[in-house]
Amino acid sequence: MIVVMKRGATPEQIAHVIRLVEDLGLKAVPIYGTERTVIAAVGDKREDYRQSLESGPGVAEVVRILAPYKMASLEVKPERTVVGVGPLRVGNSHLGVIAGPCSVESLEQTLGTARAVRAAGATALRGGAFKPRTSPYSFQGLKEQGLKILAIAREETGLPIVTEVMTPSDISLVAEYADVLQIGARNMQNYRLLEAAGETGKPILLKRGPAATLDELLLAAEYILNTGNQQVMLCERGIRTFEDHTRYTLSLSVVPALHDRTHLPVVVDPSHGTGHTSLVARMAAAAVAAGADGLIVEVHPEPERALSDGYQSLNFKQFAELMDLCRRIAAAVGKQIGHAEDLQPSVSEPAMVADNSYQAVR
Ligand code: PEP
Ligand code: MN
Repeated sequence: MIVVMKRGATPEQIAHVIRLVEDLGLKAVPIYGTERTVIAAVGDKREDYRQSLESGPGVAEVVRILAPYKMASLEVKPERTVVGVGPLRVGNSHLGVIAGPCSVESLEQTLGTARAVRAAGATALRGGAFKPRTSPYSFQGLKEQGLKILAIAREETGLPIVTEVMTPSDISLVAEYADVLQIGARNMQNYRLLEAAGETGKPILLKRGPAATLDELLLAAEYILNTGNQQVMLCERGIRTFEDHTRYTLSLSVVPALHDRTHLPVVVDPSHGTGHTSLVARMAAAAVAAGADGLIVEVHPEPERALSDGYQSLNFKQFAELMDLCRRIAAAVGKQIGHAEDLQPSVSEPAMVADNSYQAVR
């Protein structure tokens, strides 16, 4: 159920309705939009509390949400959410580009990549310090040392860091360094991890599990939203099918399908989604054409020497070419790529941006 407040409802009225919802034994999660505030009342479905809430001060209406996911749904929040940190903006008319190595391997490799992707126009740096590898004998990541390297790269380039956290016990350590917490595809349904990541208040990049349906992805996002953290990006990174010419099948129709269901921005990962360097730029362009709000792309100074995912990584020149191509497609579909400061303010939603979590300089 959601309580839709009247346009111009006062903070006192909103606080009053939150108390009213809590007194009914329900959890109240306020969602502040640019047009109106709604309060999601989450709890026992069997009871109908509509009448008691409808008489609250400043309440416009109380509606039941039909979708299984509530706070992620467009019914609750018709305005598009823009996730932002530092120079990165993802959502609405902003196309964010997150680029960097699959794994942090050394200071030289990470810093060199950060400088190159920034020069080409990326506004966030990716890099795994804790790596979920299929084999226990593969490189597992530099862990805290990797996080320290990412922090140095951020300090030097100003790019916010997107890095994966694999387990709740690592959250406080990873959140100390990361600007965006990545929940990997293998962990999409690790619900305690989703809650713990949400509770940090940091923006979250939630990757779709290779066997997860759209509803399952949205319900996973709901676990994060339910902690009160609205800074969630959904990420399509390819699913498992019988097809074997690519590593996964990049399911681009989920981009418009998600936009029809949710206000959350959708990021596409053409690197894991294809598993082949030669396919990455063209599928990135296709993702932008389909309306993606962001891209996450693996880039390495020497892909043939990478400790993980070299076969799908771009070198610096290939990444610059991808950016040129995607800029042209973005312009054609009315999206802007760039540093937050250079974007047209008329299309941004500053109220939704969590700049406070970004610490360029430590
Ligand atoms: C990654 O981003 O390097 C990664 C491991 O991605 P995924 O969780 O999508 O496999
Ligand atoms: Mn990878």
